[in-house]
Amino acid sequence: MDISWIPGDQDVIVAAIAGIAVIGGVAAALFAKVRDRRDLDERAVPPRPRTPGETADESTEPPASDADAAPVPEAPAARSGEHPEDPDARFSRLRSRLSGGLGAGLLSIFGRGPLDANAWDELEETLLLADVGPAATDEILDALKARLARQSDVDPKVALHDALLDIIDPTLDRSLTLGTPGGAEGRTAIVVGVNGVGKTTTVGKIARVLVAEQYSVVLGAADTFRAAAADQLETWGSRVGVPVVRSQREGADPASVAFEAADRTRADGADVLLVDTAGRLQNKAGLMDELGKIIRVVSKVQAPSEVLLVLDATTGQNGLSQARIFGEVAPLTGIILTKMDGTAKGGIVIAVQRELGVPVKFLGLGEGVDDLAPFDPQQFVDGLLGD
Ligand code: GDP
Repeated sequence: MDISWIPGDQDVIVAAIAGIAVIGGVAAALFAKVRDRRDLDERAVPPRPRTPGETADESTEPPASDADAAPVPEAPAARSGEHPEDPDARFSRLRSRLSGGLGAGLLSIFGRGPLDANAWDELEETLLLADVGPAATDEILDALKARLARQSDVDPKVALHDALLDIIDPTLDRSLTLGTPGGAEGRTAIVVGVNGVGKTTTVGKIARVLVAEQYSVVLGAADTFRAAAADQLETWGSRVGVPVVRSQREGADPASVAFEAADRTRADGADVLLVDTAGRLQNKAGLMDELGKIIRVVSKVQAPSEVLLVLDATTGQNGLSQARIFGEVAPLTGIILTKMDGTAKGGIVIAVQRELGVPVKFLGLGEGVDDLAPFDPQQFVDGLLGD
């Protein structure tokens, strides 16, 4: 640049211009930082105001081992920027997979015309192979035979569709009872199931959906037996922008962490607490003690409105026996079947729900944040039958 036309010492002028440029750069960087900070603050959910008379220290005495639980430092229950995938789109991924399994078998049976003795045997075998379970299979076949005897002109496939839908019961309430965003009271959901079925992942996915629906959420890492479990939950917490209450000590009392999490949820005025638990199936009495204590202790702050059992759908009859045990030790309100994207045969949905008399509420369709679909009986049966 030619600055010879400017009167005065040219070295001084060059130095002054360089100085101005440096100061300008620093100011621009600072401005960008402040703007980013402000954007973050705007995305944070302000704590729900307490109802009159409600204070942070209203809790009943914490359990003796509470010192174990060390809540992570302040992290606001933030809202996620990006919106989750539409539930219908998620379910259609499942439908296309289902129709390749049970659906294909049924199609070949019904494609041959009226059902003869062989076709009935094949139908029974197909339902059993698809993990529908013997009791539910008998019930479905009896209903189908009765309907066909009553109405000779009905299409057997339509009659089977109706029998499957009846046994799944579309009238059951499959929503999560978790109040409303900004509601007067926080709600708690406790997630149970054996190790490896997908509890932590499911807690993260549910948190993601709730955050997108404007709930403020806290996660409690009550699986204290594996340090990795709390780390994994923390990863999910930062992924979906919600605080995680955990113990820093491996083997800490899970009930104590659950209590700290419930207390933090109330103190923050958050809408929902999701508690991830350890699923050590060492024996029924031990499991009952552990889950019973978590539920009792959390109830000192707020009785859980949901106790959700997570089962790995690919484990078939094994999943069914887990369901039986958990059904005996915990007051289950819903079932979540994970890994429906894998080798799972859809029939487990029917078997497990019939076994427990508790509705299947969600299906896990993969490891990603949006791979959780609300269970829709009509779409599920359509998918099973390849409709
Ligand atoms: P937890 O021990 O019950 O908490 O189980 P995790 O949440 O740690 O999950 C165990 C494994 O299953 C992890 O590798 C998850 O990514 C995987 N997983 C969880 N849900 C699903 C699902 O719906 N589909 C598939 N394919 N994998 C899943």
